[in-house]
Amino acid sequence: MELASFTFSGATLRMQLKTILNRVERHKSFVYGEPRWAKDASRPTIEVPIEPRANSRPICSGCGRPGPGFDRRRARRFEFVPLWQMAVFFVYVMRRVDCPRCGVTVEQVPWAEGKHRLTRSYQWFLAGWAKRLSWSETAAAFHTSWDHVRNAVDYAVRWGLAHRELKGLEAIGVDEVQWKRGQQYLTLAYQIDAGAKRLLWIGKERTEESFREFFKLLGTEVSQGLKYVCSDMWKAYLNVIAAEAPRAIHILDRFHIMAKMNQAIDEVRRAEANRLKADGYEPVLKHSRWCLLKRPENRTTRQTVKLRELLQYNLQSVRAHLQREDFQRFWEYASPSWAGKFLDEWTTRVMRSKIEPMKKMAQTLRSHRELILNWFEARGAISSGVVEGMNNKVKLTTRKSYGFRTEEAVKLALYHALGALPEPNFTHRFC
Ligand SMILES: [Zn+2]
Repeated sequence: MELASFTFSGATLRMQLKTILNRVERHKSFVYGEPRWAKDASRPTIEVPIEPRANSRPICSGCGRPGPGFDRRRARRFEFVPLWQMAVFFVYVMRRVDCPRCGVTVEQVPWAEGKHRLTRSYQWFLAGWAKRLSWSETAAAFHTSWDHVRNAVDYAVRWGLAHRELKGLEAIGVDEVQWKRGQQYLTLAYQIDAGAKRLLWIGKERTEESFREFFKLLGTEVSQGLKYVCSDMWKAYLNVIAAEAPRAIHILDRFHIMAKMNQAIDEVRRAEANRLKADGYEPVLKHSRWCLLKRPENRTTRQTVKLRELLQYNLQSVRAHLQREDFQRFWEYASPSWAGKFLDEWTTRVMRSKIEPMKKMAQTLRSHRELILNWFEARGAISSGVVEGMNNKVKLTTRKSYGFRTEEAVKLALYHALGALPEPNFTHRFC
C-alpha cells in the first residue's frame, strides 16, 4: 500500500506504510509484509502481516529464552495505533516453542504482552489520552471500548508501579478522600518533597491496618529515612505514623485544621439558624453559609454585604467566624514559640466563649499542640499548600471518573493521573 508519492527533482520519492512502520516500530527478529485492506470491516481497516525473520528462533513465553520451534497456530490480530482514524491491525501466526525448560509454550512477541489483543504501542497511546480525557471520551475518540481504555490504563499503571523509584523519599502526606457519594473512604499517601509531588499509594478505608500497608510498601529503610510526615488529626493515622516513622517530624496539616474549623463554624450556624427559626426571629442566617466560611479574598460582593449585615447581630455564628479569622494570624508567625503562645491564648479565649463546637475545636488543638507547632519546623522544606493541591486534583479525577463503579477503577485512574509514574523509553511517541 503506497501512502504518498511525489516528484522530487525528477525522482519519485515513495513513502510506503512499511517504511513508516520500520521507522516508528521496528522489531529486529520480525519483518512487516505488504499492508492490505481488511475484508468485511465496518470501517476502513488496514492489516499489516508480520513474519518472523528467516532463521530466527521463537522466544519462550515461560522463561523468555529462545528455543526450537514446535509448530504454528492460527493467525492472531493485534490492534495497533490507528492511522488517520483508520484501524490498523498486525496479523501474525504465532509459533509454539518446544522449550527444554518449560515444555511446549506459545512464543512471546515484542509488540504485545501475553494474551493482550492490543499492541503495547496502542495501549500506551490510549493510556496517554486517558490522562487528558475521561476514559469514555478516549474510547469514543478512537472508536474503541471503555474496557480497552481501562485495560490500557491498567497496563500503564502496572508498568509504572513496577518501575518507579521510592528510595530517597523525605516528606510524605496522608489524606483521605470520599467517593461513591461519600459512602466510601480511601486513604491516600503522597510524596510532598519540595521538588517532587506525586501520589504514592491508595488504601481501602482509613484504618490503622490499611495504612500500615503503605509503610510495608516503603520498607523499613525508606520509612526510617522519612523526615516529614504530614497528616490530619485522624487517630488511626496518628498512631501508625508514630509507630512506623518515629524519626520523622509529624506535622498536622494547615489545610485539614482549617477544614475542621470550618466544620465547627458550620455546625454553629446550623444550630443557631434552627434556634432563631424556632423562636420566631427573622431568618438573618439564611444564605449565610459561604459568607461565614470563605476567606475575605474569596468572597463575592454579595457575600461581603451579607457578612456586614450579619456583623450587626451578636450571633454565635458571627463570633465563631471572627474566632477563625483571628486564628489565621497563627500561620503568620515566624517563631514556633510565639506561635505556641498565640495558640494558648486563642484556645483560652475560645474556651470562655460558650460556643460548644468551637470549644471542642480549641480542645482538639490543645491536645495536638506539639504536632501543630511542628508546622513551623517544617516550613520551607515542604510546600504548605501541597496536600490541599493534591486533594483538589484527587477530587477532580474522581469527579471526572463519574462512571467508575468499582474501587479498582478509581484507584487506577488516580494512580494514572497523579502517580507521576515512569514510562518506557519509546523510540517513537504516538501521543
Ligand atoms: Zn521456557
